Amino acid sequence: MNSIVATRKHMNANETVHHYFDRAADVLELEESTRRLLKMAKREITVEVPVEMDDGRIETLVGYRVQHNNARGPMKGGLRYHPEVDLDEVRALASLMTWKTAVVNIPYGGAKGGICVTPRDLSRKENERITRKFVDQIHDIIGPDKDIPAPDMGTNAETMAWIRNQWEKYHGFNPACITGKPVEDYGAKGREEATGRGVGILAFKMLKRLGRRPKDTRVVIQGFGNVGSHAAKFMHESEFSIVGISDVSGGYYDPAGLDIPAALHYMIENRSLKGFAQAERITNEQLLELDCELLVPAALGSVITLDNVERIQAKYIVEGANGPVDADADERLFDRGIAVLPDILANAGGVTVSYFEWVQNRQYYSWDLNRVRQQLDSILSTAFEDVWQLANEHNVSLRTAAFMIAIQRVKRSTELGGF
Ligand code: NAD
Repeated sequence: MNSIVATRKHMNANETVHHYFDRAADVLELEESTRRLLKMAKREITVEVPVEMDDGRIETLVGYRVQHNNARGPMKGGLRYHPEVDLDEVRALASLMTWKTAVVNIPYGGAKGGICVTPRDLSRKENERITRKFVDQIHDIIGPDKDIPAPDMGTNAETMAWIRNQWEKYHGFNPACITGKPVEDYGAKGREEATGRGVGILAFKMLKRLGRRPKDTRVVIQGFGNVGSHAAKFMHESEFSIVGISDVSGGYYDPAGLDIPAALHYMIENRSLKGFAQAERITNEQLLELDCELLVPAALGSVITLDNVERIQAKYIVEGANGPVDADADERLFDRGIAVLPDILANAGGVTVSYFEWVQNRQYYSWDLNRVRQQLDSILSTAFEDVWQLANEHNVSLRTAAFMIAIQRVKRSTELGGF
């Protein structure tokens, strides 16, 4: 391992995104002034969220919304409830959204929000009160033409319904103010499965390009929430052999291939994989290092780091989660010939179907599931081919190619609009 890599060990989430940006900007020979303009967030907001808990105590939480860039359209990005949420992480995720919406070429910019809280420890009513209080603080800066939130870790369709209801108290009826809503209440069919399905679609395309058949591909998936479970379902149906899955309770392994329908059923019944007996129990650390062809980290950021990168045995990685690979580890993976399909493309299925939801809301017209799936496939396929081709042309990683495409699009819109 060389010393440059070692000195990068403590790069935080935002520095990591800047590092990826700069690597692409170097190939594009971007000037320093343009880099600064495109890297910096347009607006960052930190708000106090005081809330009365069920036992009468007052808890004061901290909420964030970072609006990174709106050169290509209204800003778009999830809302995360997690105990490790902080401004640095939200900032990094907001800029990833700018690059993500640009790489799949949908007319949005990037934003992200979060509240530092453990949703598991909250009652449903507490969760609702926190959500409504947060909207009270930020309602003026979000909306269908400004910034459109969506679900992320720890939030779901119900959270989005509360946000919409609270936002509409101030601004009137407009379901396009938020996406990821319940399907029966202006949501889009296929939104819930979209990110995981997109991960599966793109994994399939990448392996096809590499001349590998799903049947001969052993897959390990970290995380069995929205992204991981839908990716597992799609990949199982596409005949991949899924040998490892995990959630916060640990890892579950069967070298002969797991019974994914049984695991999905167990998960729905128990809201966790804890106790799933049809597999060998392993730790999440062991799971990442399993002998397999394809690894899909679909839980948290920074799970592949300098500490474990040399022990990763997968030949391909598809980033279901945002930022699962640290920048220094990413370089080692590239040196070792391990192909990484980056988060800004790999998990863009969710924001793509969020875009379809927003379009349907604005047209008061609802698409059927087939149309959603076909359009999703079409947008992701085009983006994949663009990235694949550019990576080969310039002999750069798929991540650098994806950033190059995204940066060029945002730069072009910025130039066309003027300052
Ligand atoms: P989720 O809350 O539905 O699921 C998260 C999963 O990770 C759960 O199975 C949880 O048990 C597991 N997990 C939590 N801590 C863990 C740990 N320490 N080790 C192993 N597993 C752990 O969240 P999600 O919506 O599936 O999001 C997962 C990732 O995908 C996040 O990085 C998120 O930003 C990203 N993402 C989500 C979407 C979306 O549409 N939901 C879109 C793009 C990106």
